[in-house]
Amino acid sequence: MSTTLVQIGGARPARVGPEARTPTALEKAFLALVGAGSVMFTLALFAPKVFGSASWAAPTMFGLIAVGSIGYLWSGYGHTTPGIKNHGIFHSSLANRGALAWLAGIAVTTFYVVLYWHGEALEGGYQLLDPFAQKLTGSPADHWFLYGFLYTLLVLIFGGRMFLKYRHNRYQLIRTASVMFFQLGLAFLLPGVLKKIWAQDFYFTYFWPLKPDYLLPFDYVIGEGGMIAKEWSGHAVGRFMVIWSAVMALGAVPVLTWFFGKRWYCSWVCGCGGLAETFGDPFRQLSDKSEKAWKFERWSIHGVLVFIVLFTVLLWVNDATGRKLLGSDGSELFWKTYGLFIVMAFSGVVGVGFYPLMGSRVWCRYGCPQAAILGIFQRFFSRFRITTNGGQCISCGNCSTYCEMGIDVRSYAQRGENIVRASCVGCGVCAAVCPRGVLKLENGTFGGRYDGDGKPWSAFKDALRGRPKA
Ligand code: SF4
Ligand code: SF4
Repeated sequence: MSTTLVQIGGARPARVGPEARTPTALEKAFLALVGAGSVMFTLALFAPKVFGSASWAAPTMFGLIAVGSIGYLWSGYGHTTPGIKNHGIFHSSLANRGALAWLAGIAVTTFYVVLYWHGEALEGGYQLLDPFAQKLTGSPADHWFLYGFLYTLLVLIFGGRMFLKYRHNRYQLIRTASVMFFQLGLAFLLPGVLKKIWAQDFYFTYFWPLKPDYLLPFDYVIGEGGMIAKEWSGHAVGRFMVIWSAVMALGAVPVLTWFFGKRWYCSWVCGCGGLAETFGDPFRQLSDKSEKAWKFERWSIHGVLVFIVLFTVLLWVNDATGRKLLGSDGSELFWKTYGLFIVMAFSGVVGVGFYPLMGSRVWCRYGCPQAAILGIFQRFFSRFRITTNGGQCISCGNCSTYCEMGIDVRSYAQRGENIVRASCVGCGVCAAVCPRGVLKLENGTFGGRYDGDGKPWSAFKDALRGRPKA
């Protein structure tokens, strides 16, 4: 990644370092399309009267952004060797915490603050999507519809970028197709259709503790009009949905993690992971690899998990005692506090807004209670591991650099040791960027993963006492 100065004939030294590449005319043309669409969208937000409710405006602006982005990515990646591009990444203002990264971070963070606390301010943007929202959900568009639409668009566009960048790697192609499918189908279109049919949406890919309200006792589940108490529009789907949430949280999580590790959810299904693996990919090298960050991560993510478990128990006890424990509004207050600090502030504002400053998995690494549970199963009770062929390692450090979870993969590779870390989301990028084929993601037999795996419960108890082996 160093820049080289060379003497060409008698001319003054030419800079032929990684930052030398400038966009081609075609790339500039595609960028202009993205710029035009973005200007239209900004106008819609700040001067809604410009477009009013013109039916052509939304398809035009989002079409320009989508075609321009895909075209730009295709012209940039299409003719190059597939795989990781180290060129200039630490000279880029956006990819290495420069002024552009700060500007992007502030812009995304501001968007989230407005979305969560002043959603009506986005009316100019979401009213343009009204015809589409009416067709899909049977209701007018609101700021959440706009958010879901933009989120899905980003996953699809940057998923296309992953296809181009890792077109040589089957695992990356299938995994990317999977997160695109789950985001578009199960996190955007299906909830919209359910809302139209049953006047109630539902997200099959989220369950307790990531979506705790599906299993909490108050109105959403067992109150008047709740999922257990009442059928929706004559369809007996409420109970099925509660059962689905419980089966996924208590059954699928341990069973699927036993077979595949936490990657089945974090890198293949989850919407937060989907955004991180697509839109967040350009920032994955920014994750903190220090020992200090690893220590903080363990306290922080398990702290959130303990909080959500206590919180769930408390709300059920409160309900069982006729809401005497917390008072009649106590459940509501607790729920709103959790939603404000954990769901909104942590997962949205910090989790996505800080991509350009702290990497793409801030929420998954430090805060997600679902990742905490999956991580405990993966570490102690799973067949998944990344095996390392230490003799082949040339210590280039690509794997550590591009691990979005801040794992120092190289240090394991140098020792020829299995990687069974709780935080590993199984994205497989470390293996994809290794020039020597040292790393392999495997679901082998349970034995031989880590010292003491013959007695996983003892290893788990040791870890709780602060004596983890890895
Ligand atoms: S160790 Fe490899 S597979 Fe695991 S999170 Fe890091 S880059 Fe992804
Ligand atoms: S495992 Fe591969 S990518 Fe990592 S340091 Fe060794 S050779 Fe480089």
